[in-house]
Amino acid sequence: MTDTEDIIQRERNFLLQTYSRYPLVLQRGKGVFLYDLEGKKYLDFVAGLGVNALGHAHPRIVKAIREQAAKVIHLSNLYYNEYQGKLAEKLCSLSGLQRVFFSNSGTEAIEGSIKLARLAGHRAGGNAKSQLVALEGSYHGRTFGSMSLTGQDKYRKGFEPLLEDVTFVPRDDVGALRAAVNENTCAIVLEPIFGEGGIHECSTEFLQQCRALADQHHAALIFDEIQCGLGRSGNIFAFQTFGVTPDIVAIAKPIAAGLPLGAFLAKAEFASAISAGQHGTTFGGGPLACRVALEYLAILEEEKLLENVARVGGYLQQELKALVGKYAAAQEVRGRGLIQGLQLDIPARPIVEQALAEGVLFNSTQDTVVRFLPPFLLEEKHVDKGVRVLKKLLGKKRRKTDQAA
Ligand SMILES: *Cc1c(COP(=O)(O)O)cnc(C)c1O
Repeated sequence: MTDTEDIIQRERNFLLQTYSRYPLVLQRGKGVFLYDLEGKKYLDFVAGLGVNALGHAHPRIVKAIREQAAKVIHLSNLYYNEYQGKLAEKLCSLSGLQRVFFSNSGTEAIEGSIKLARLAGHRAGGNAKSQLVALEGSYHGRTFGSMSLTGQDKYRKGFEPLLEDVTFVPRDDVGALRAAVNENTCAIVLEPIFGEGGIHECSTEFLQQCRALADQHHAALIFDEIQCGLGRSGNIFAFQTFGVTPDIVAIAKPIAAGLPLGAFLAKAEFASAISAGQHGTTFGGGPLACRVALEYLAILEEEKLLENVARVGGYLQQELKALVGKYAAAQEVRGRGLIQGLQLDIPARPIVEQALAEGVLFNSTQDTVVRFLPPFLLEEKHVDKGVRVLKKLLGKKRRKTDQAA
C-alpha cells in the first residue's frame, strides 16, 4: 500500500464518514501552490474554501505564529490579552460598526449574531419579537441555529425540529420580503453574495429594501460575510460594494490566515442589548489567532491585495466569460473579485476530479457550478493555467452559428 492509500484507508476506518474527499493527501504549500505526498504540484483555486487568502506559508504569517506560540497560545477570556482589543478596534474602523465578539468559526459567528438579535428584539418588542427572515438557497452553517437559517433541504433533513420562527423568501423577491417582515421580526439574515449556494449576488435594490424594512420594524439586518467578506469581493466588506450597511456582520474564513477564528460585528444600538454572562467561548479571541488576524489585515494593506483581487478577478471573469461563448456546457459566469462561479449545464464534480490530474484544484458546488475562491495572491498567469485546463475538460465547443448568437 502506498502512503496515500494508507492514509485514506485509516480515515475510512476511523472517521465519521461525513466528507466525500478527493483521493489526494496534501502535505505542504507555498503561495498559490499545494503539494501532495509524492511532491506533485497543484495550482490552488480553492484556498481551503476561501480561508487561505494569503496562500500557503506566507512568511509574515509563519513568523507571527512562531513568535506568538513561543510566548502564549491560549489564555482564557477571564483575562485580557494584548491582541483581542486591537483586532476589534481595527475591524470596527474598517467596517464602521462599533463592537465585536470573537468566535472560533463561521457558524458560531452566526449563532452569536442571532442570539444578539433576539435579545435586541425582545428588548424592543417583547418576547413575540423573535422571528427570523432568511433566504432560500442560503448557507449559514451546521449548528442548530445556523442550520435553521439555511434555506436548503439537504442540510436540514433528518435534524428536525429546528428553530421555529424562520421564514424563507427567494433572493431578490421584494414582494415576498415585504410579506415576510413584520413587527415581530427580530432579524433579516442574508449573504450579500451567496457562496455555497452557487455564487449569486443579491441585487442592490433588494438589499436596500432589506435595510428599509429592518429600519421600519426595528429588526437587525444581519449580513453573513463569512465567505464573501474580508477582501474577496475586492472591498474589505462586500456590503461596501453594494452601499448597504448591516447592523450585524458575521465574518470568519480568511481572518486568521488558516487558524480558526470568527467574529460578529454589531452597531452600538444592538450591541447594548447583551450583558456580562449572556454569551462566551473558551477559545474565541485567543492571543495567537488575534495576533495572526492583525497580521493578515496588515498584509492586505501593505501588499495592496485588494487591488490585486479586483484586477485579477476582473481578468478571471473576462476569461471565464470567453468560455461561455465557446463551450456548449458553459452557461454563465457570476460573482466578482475572487469569488466567482462558472455555471455549467453538466455535473461539475467530474470536471473538478479530472482537473486534479492536470495539477489544478477547483471546487464544485450546487452540482453544476465550478466555484473559484483562490488566494488573493493569484496572478494573471495562474488564471491562464486554470482556464487552459477548463478548456481541455469542458468538451464540446459551440457550433460556429451558436457562437455568433
Ligand atoms: C463557511 C460558511 C459558514 C460556516 O462557517 P464555518 O466556519 O464552517 O462554521 C457560514 N456562512 C457562510 C456564507 C459560509 O461560507
